[in-house]
Amino acid sequence: MAEIQNITVLGATGTIGVNTLDVVARHPDRFRVVALTGNTQIDRLFEQCVTFQPAFAVVLDADGAEQLQQKISGAGMETEVLSGIEALERVSSLPEVDTVMAAIVGAAGLRPALAAARAGKRILLANKETLVMSGGIFMQTVQQSGAELLPIDSEHNAIFQALPRDFAGDLRAVGVRRILLTASGGPFRTRPLDELPHVTPQQACAHPNWVMGRKISVDSASMMNKGLEVIEARWLFNASAEEIEVMIHPQSVIHSMVEYLDGSVLAQMGTPDMRTPIAYALGFPTRIEAGVSPLDFYKAGPLNFEPPDLNRFPCLNLAYQALRHGGTAPAILNAANEIAVAAFLEQRISFTDIPVMIEHALEGVASRGVSGLEAVLEADLLAREAATLWMLQHRPARSLSGH
Ligand code: NAD
Ligand code: MG
Repeated sequence: MAEIQNITVLGATGTIGVNTLDVVARHPDRFRVVALTGNTQIDRLFEQCVTFQPAFAVVLDADGAEQLQQKISGAGMETEVLSGIEALERVSSLPEVDTVMAAIVGAAGLRPALAAARAGKRILLANKETLVMSGGIFMQTVQQSGAELLPIDSEHNAIFQALPRDFAGDLRAVGVRRILLTASGGPFRTRPLDELPHVTPQQACAHPNWVMGRKISVDSASMMNKGLEVIEARWLFNASAEEIEVMIHPQSVIHSMVEYLDGSVLAQMGTPDMRTPIAYALGFPTRIEAGVSPLDFYKAGPLNFEPPDLNRFPCLNLAYQALRHGGTAPAILNAANEIAVAAFLEQRISFTDIPVMIEHALEGVASRGVSGLEAVLEADLLAREAATLWMLQHRPARSLSGH
């Protein structure tokens, strides 16, 4: 029998968290849950605690933690309930924890993921924003502590699978010419451009191939998700912007590819289901059952490919610009995007305002070299202020609903 892996799941109540626990539950002989964390969905977190009996459960805010504590006590359970960002860092670095699934959404996931990196854990990284904001610092921390980093984002997991096992950060050394990052193109790939200013959050969140949290769903619709993933790939695989090519592949059957110098292209394929990359990382280097239906080639095809239309998807362009600029520019991009997406979901701004707000922040906040985490956090804050200010000036408190 394999040795038991002790796991913390950060963001357990989200889409990735739920899929992670689905795979974990299939392998009680392999995994034991030590800690689960959530933000607002207390009922769901409580149910997960009942099923997995973790030693710790963390809710970000104290009120939520109090509610969970009452349920836990009422059920006579021994799970210790904690709250606050320090508690998230603590359950990411406990000595008894081997593996941390980092599946909090947005910049909020940075500090706990860094804590896991410092503590030398095996990190299953879904929270791409961590690498976008502070890729240099994070990768250096992973190297220094001897942590192990396994990508959960389906594209990066596919690339990881298509690279040789001895890849150690030098693409040339293993004969790689390019990384081909596939993108579905989201729900608005073919929608007439003049309709984009009027699309609703509900339409933006209706992804053709994947069920995901609302923030990443909007990012997929604007293709900022692919932009963030280009930056994520830059850090994970030490690739330059020129070595990463985005390719639209609407069926999401190929999850990304690696092109080698000899003309070979290795693709990883499968039914679009996040349990595949999650199981790959959980079991690594062993393949384990994930509950995913096998790919049916007769139903999946034909497979199409097209270049992305940067006129339709300005966010992708902004991300490449931020990557080429370097320093804190990606952190500025990420923070302004978080403000813009939240405002779009609240119907404060239109879908096409999203890139305008981000561009405004990129132009208004000076990018600096990343000397340490403080520089990143300062850029994050300034970008949030710049984006918010743009909104107050250009979209004062009226709601767009009803238009
Ligand atoms: P989600 O919105 O479904 O879940 C987010 C989780 O984070 C929840 O558990 C929530 O409680 C927690 N959370 C939210 N704000 C928090 C805060 N301020 N502090 C602490 N916890 C907080 O999101 P998701 O779709 O599961 O995505 C999670 C991460 O994984 C994102 O970074 C996303 O980009 C990445 N990712 C998701 C998918 C997918 O298919 N859903 C695919 C690739 C990458
Ligand atoms: Mg992805």
